[in-house]
Amino acid sequence: MKIAFVSSEVYPYAKTGGLADVSGALPKELAKLGHEVKVFMPKYYPVSEYEYNLHYDNYIGEMKIHIGGISHNTHVFHGYMPDSTVDIYFIHNPHYFHRQQIYTDNWDEDERFILFQKAVIESIQRMGWSPDLIHCNDWQTSLIPLLIKDNYNWDKLFEKTATLLTIHNIGYQGRFSQETLSKTEINGKYFYPNGPIEMEGDVNFLKAGIHFADKINTVSPTYANELLTPEYGAGLDNSLWQRKGDFSGILNGVDYSIWNPEIDKHIPNHYSINDLSGKSENKKFLLKHFNIKYNPNVPLIGIISRMVVQKGFDIIAEVLNELMGLEAQWIILGSGESKYENMFNVLVYKYPDKIGVYIGYNNKLSHLIEAGADIFLMPSHYEPCGLNQIYSLKYGTVPVVRKTGGLADTVQDWNEYNSYGQDIGNGFSFYEYSGKALLQSVNRAINDFHNKLIWPKIQYNGMIKDYSWHHSAEEYNLLYKRTFRK
Ligand code: ADP
Repeated sequence: MKIAFVSSEVYPYAKTGGLADVSGALPKELAKLGHEVKVFMPKYYPVSEYEYNLHYDNYIGEMKIHIGGISHNTHVFHGYMPDSTVDIYFIHNPHYFHRQQIYTDNWDEDERFILFQKAVIESIQRMGWSPDLIHCNDWQTSLIPLLIKDNYNWDKLFEKTATLLTIHNIGYQGRFSQETLSKTEINGKYFYPNGPIEMEGDVNFLKAGIHFADKINTVSPTYANELLTPEYGAGLDNSLWQRKGDFSGILNGVDYSIWNPEIDKHIPNHYSINDLSGKSENKKFLLKHFNIKYNPNVPLIGIISRMVVQKGFDIIAEVLNELMGLEAQWIILGSGESKYENMFNVLVYKYPDKIGVYIGYNNKLSHLIEAGADIFLMPSHYEPCGLNQIYSLKYGTVPVVRKTGGLADTVQDWNEYNSYGQDIGNGFSFYEYSGKALLQSVNRAINDFHNKLIWPKIQYNGMIKDYSWHHSAEEYNLLYKRTFRK
């Protein structure tokens, strides 16, 4: 099939979270399955033509993209995704995409992604390439199904084009005031109370995608079920209910050419399921980096996360003193809400021999933490898929998670599964969203860390799991076929 894969972030070019990892890996796997894939993303300021060998696409040339009747000159750069022959196209418009961050709270955030989506469609037109399927990801791309069904339906190129929308996180919907409607140039007939693109008087991009895409999926089976409930649906549960027959969950894969302790290029000591000695060396290295004394009998707990409520920082805060009272060491990497950043900065002053904190984004350190920590904590309030717990499993770093979304689909609680007589537990989990439940699970993990018979078994159960993209890509392959047939 001919597939256009559209995403606002793609690793290694631009990343704020898991969406980039997915967009960097899935298209390459799809190409291996025989699909012709073309990836589209914005050309943000740091995306270097020199570093990635990108070339101005003369064939596409200069496009005049309309936003509310005003035209904006836009170009395209072309390249190939790393270690592959998959085409990637970068929508180039410095006015909109050369900003400090990938996502902003600037007044024209809506315009940035209206331009992106229209420019993707018009690039495809200029190529004269008729995709069988356009795979949209999150709100930044979710007007495309409506745009090609309506605004661009005069073009026979899209006559047979199917659309799939993947929801990576329902917490971000692309909600803007009613004025945005005229900027999109979408027909006003779609905007009415509780209609396909309206929410409480606002325009809602994600809602439009849910309504008009031929199929919709999200990034784990459990999250798909959760999204149909008011608790997790963030106001879109009814819209999803209406599309229930077309809605499913496919667990993300991970890229083991990047996240594998046997070959990880960011860690000083490689190790494998057969010999974990390199892991202790990495722990020493990591602790030294933070000036904390190494002690093989004290477990090191790692956190790598956006510091927002979604990731469970409010329940960590609830029991912070109790956590610091445990016989454990901590390395924390992340950035986000300043109250959580400050909370950890204060802890470093209070407990310098116990906790190391890096506020910011640091890819190398994220690999080092996975390789050096004994336990990984991820107490998310909700988690569409979650990647770090899957990396942790591969690195023999036992995850402690809240049982939600993709965390519930990948982490089996050691005690719970053992009570069924199965020796398959690979981590620890808790259901109730509270500091108390979190603390209990961390305590269970620390106790078992000291049990030299049990702990290697838990690590082993995680390390043998295979969450490579290969499986997930096969599932997308089937979903594409179903979407196209529809
Ligand atoms: P989300 O997409 O909700 O942020 P995921 O677990 O799906 O969460 O993916 C997060 C990705 O971003 C992982 O690859 C993780 O290692 C990375 N990451 C998150 N915060 C940081 C950080 N501060 N520094 C480096 N990598 C980070």
